[in-house]
Amino acid sequence: MLNIALFGPPGAGKGTQSEFLTKEYNLFYISTGDLLRKEIKEQSKLGKEAQSIIASGGLVSDEIIVQIIEKTITDNPNVNGFLFDGFPRTYIQAYILEGLMIKLNTSLNCLISLEVPEEESVRRLLKRGESSGRSDDNETVIRNRLKEYNQKTLPVLNFYKDKGVYFDINGTDSIEKVRSRINEIIKKELSKRLLNIVLFGYPGSGRGSQGKAISKKYDLEYVATGPMLGDEIAKQTKIGKQVQDLYNNGQLIPDEIVVKLIEQKLENSKGVKGFIFKGFPRTLVQSYILDGLLKKHGSSLSKIIEIEVPMLELIRRLDERSKTKDCMPYDSSTAKIVQRLQDHEIKTVPVIEKYNELHGVVKISGLGTFNEVFDRISFEIENGFKNLR
Ligand code: AMP
Repeated sequence: MLNIALFGPPGAGKGTQSEFLTKEYNLFYISTGDLLRKEIKEQSKLGKEAQSIIASGGLVSDEIIVQIIEKTITDNPNVNGFLFDGFPRTYIQAYILEGLMIKLNTSLNCLISLEVPEEESVRRLLKRGESSGRSDDNETVIRNRLKEYNQKTLPVLNFYKDKGVYFDINGTDSIEKVRSRINEIIKKELSKRLLNIVLFGYPGSGRGSQGKAISKKYDLEYVATGPMLGDEIAKQTKIGKQVQDLYNNGQLIPDEIVVKLIEQKLENSKGVKGFIFKGFPRTLVQSYILDGLLKKHGSSLSKIIEIEVPMLELIRRLDERSKTKDCMPYDSSTAKIVQRLQDHEIKTVPVIEKYNELHGVVKISGLGTFNEVFDRISFEIENGFKNLR
């Protein structure tokens, strides 16, 4: 996800810049001011509570803000990221935002402050008041809004300066100049981030061959636990010997071993642009492990894609492969093929469902030629990440 907060006094141009940013980066726009005005229009309980405070230029309570923000975020689970305008406005709200981001397993990438002197704010808001129809765009209320900003909102900046995600911009420059400065900041932040993809699909869906091709196209480290285990055996490492014994006894490879391998891979892959995971996570436990490992590296999942292929087509493909030289030991009989399909259904489908609830899983059709499927996956990776690098 890409999460940005626009900061600045009333009239700094946050709304204007938001229009462009939401389109450019495909973000979900959250303006607490707009949300409150909607509540007031609907004369909801929250709206009635907020009405007189807004009219006087004060800040509404953090309790009200947390309710409207939480509702908006949970109502929109599958977005590329959020653009916050007018939030956080108090130190408490900065903590609220932290908590919300943690819940979504993400973080605020940057807080961009548009700096505008007080008299310029007043001038702009009075001008806006001529056409905005907003009762709070009159001089007395404007002065009060600015007082609230200086007293309660400005201290929030220290919270973000300490976290290293704070950037300031001269908000008195032209709209285009401010826009291009914001763009520069976001692009720089994006280029620092890892692109982490999980590729799901039943055996036979093409996730292995697609995963390898995608890793080349986007310069990502391909992480496939099956071949990694095979590698360890071939090199006769300590882990390899353990795995060999387990294979020989027909036992499953415990999570401890898989985790160690993934951990090593992440440690040894400094300076890469990201990772594409195939065949991992396979179980609910492994999904928690992956989230934890990425978090340890200051990163998180960027995109989860599932390649969908109808069951009969999967069986046809696996059966065909079993007759070629590409036949894997686990595809050598119908019983083994059925076992693998069943394993996926029992263990991995619940993981995909969990990811779908938490982060949203993009489903693409695995039917058609290799290139057609490859293009569909590429499109999904680039969709919303077009400015990634
Ligand atoms: P805005 O549209 O952002 O200028 O907000 C208009 C008014 O809504 C403000 O003057 C506050 O009274 C109220 N408001 C908007 N966002 C917040 C917030 N995050 N915390 C407290 N009050 C808010």
